[in-house]
Amino acid sequence: MTDDDTSISLSGWGRSANRRTIVRRPTTDEELVDAIGSAGQVTVRGAGCSYGDAALPEQGIVLDLTARNRVLSFNHLNGVIVLEAGVVLGDLLNQVLPLGWTLPVLPGSARITVGGALASDVHGKNHPGAGSFGQHVLWLSLLDAEGSVTELSAGHDPDGFWATLGGMGLTGVILKAAIQLQPAETGWAKQRRRRTRSLDDTIAVLRELAVRQETDPNLHVVAWLDTHAPGTRLGRGVIDESHPAQLGDLPKGVPPDPDPRRSTRRRPVRSLPGPGVVLAPTIAAASMARWHLGGPRDRLLPLLSALCPLDRADAWPAAFGRRGMVQYQFAIPSEATAVLRRVLAFLVGSRMSPALTTLKNLGFGTAGPLSFPLHGWTLAADLPARWLGDGRTLRSIDAMVAEAGGRVYLAKDSTVDPALIPDMYPRLKTWQRTRDRLDPDRRFGSALAHRLNLLP
Ligand SMILES: Cc1cc2nc3c(=O)[nH]c(=O)nc-3n(C[C@H](O)[C@H](O)[C@H](O)COP(=O)(O)OP(=O)(O)OC[C@H]3O[C@@H](n4cnc5c(N)ncnc54)[C@H](O)[C@@H]3O)c2cc1C
Repeated sequence: MTDDDTSISLSGWGRSANRRTIVRRPTTDEELVDAIGSAGQVTVRGAGCSYGDAALPEQGIVLDLTARNRVLSFNHLNGVIVLEAGVVLGDLLNQVLPLGWTLPVLPGSARITVGGALASDVHGKNHPGAGSFGQHVLWLSLLDAEGSVTELSAGHDPDGFWATLGGMGLTGVILKAAIQLQPAETGWAKQRRRRTRSLDDTIAVLRELAVRQETDPNLHVVAWLDTHAPGTRLGRGVIDESHPAQLGDLPKGVPPDPDPRRSTRRRPVRSLPGPGVVLAPTIAAASMARWHLGGPRDRLLPLLSALCPLDRADAWPAAFGRRGMVQYQFAIPSEATAVLRRVLAFLVGSRMSPALTTLKNLGFGTAGPLSFPLHGWTLAADLPARWLGDGRTLRSIDAMVAEAGGRVYLAKDSTVDPALIPDMYPRLKTWQRTRDRLDPDRRFGSALAHRLNLLP
């Protein structure tokens, strides 16, 4: 560190985890290597869209990769693109959609960076057919703490490659990656919306759609659950099925790219004072309204509006007030639907009905020991952080998830019981061995790694 370094306050996307820290934002390789050399421990950060403390430091400095955001090469014929890790997915789409290409996997936000997408091995609403982001990476280059760069792929040091995909920035700095894009005729999506009347009904429709998703990687499906409806209606939902539109799907006069100047940056929004506006009565009213207004319809809308609706709601975390929000996201195997019911019953019974609850299908996971997806379901619940007290409130859900062979998503986590991580990620020890080989002096770390004892 130098005398000029001043510390700033940094938070996760949910604004419930915060740290004062020194941030370096290198552009050149020399600046990057210098920044690592000058620090004890380094936490790598992309766009800071992980909800909790994954991109916050426990000690040392934060290395912000967002200034390293060049497209290094693009083969228009086969769709292979080589990018620096700081490229924001939305910026990438702005460049490639007009040329007839798109990303095979897009999570619920296009504001994240390529580095963040790889380090969390993110998934989209089309996971059963498309897999996770890492499955479309041809190779990546990783910088270690000594300044050496290694190219990793499924053929060259596969252990290092798979430990880095989903490795939460703890194996080194991802500098660049080659990604296989897929053809796209337009930037529009056809969306079909339907409503379900109970959790059983929601599960049955999602199961049916999962079968179609397995053979159609372009079919994106998400259910928004009403967790306020009483009795057997608890878990009724609005299900959105989106499919990229072909040119022939567009009405006459509609241009293939709906929104060529779409914004890819977050608008700064100040957190509301006190508890904000996300209070039990407003949550209940919004949840019911979403269901009642979510009647069946077919429509054409920009692909990014269909797949990343929260990018249009910059004020969402700010609305939870001073203490922010957490998102509890877990995955459980297909047969464990009883856990979905028990989790919803627990939250409702504890007067913690979530502000937003989504349920998605997941396909088979990857060779990445810390990669999140497993074949089954993923449920995500947005909760005001002020409801969670010392963070142990959700421990009984952790236990239900672990017992069912499930896991929480590290990129979203703020509260999971550290003792359950080895059960949730049974290949943790394999990952730790590879990580120790890649970073023997433990120079890469994070508040998440410290809290969950990922690097014992
Ligand atoms: C509205 C919203 C919706 C979301 N929906 C989804 C979803 O549908 N599916 C899903 O999977 N995720 C989803 N996420 C989570 C998000 O995709 C991940 O947290 C992603 O990792 C964030 O990327 P980032 O660039 O903001 O990285 P950060 O949040 O800054 O960092 C995330 C992790 O990546 C590491 N990292 C970042 N850059 C590098 C690098 N260059 N080298 C090494 N490590 C690096 C960090 O150390 C950290 O561990 C959503 C997030 C938001 C805000």
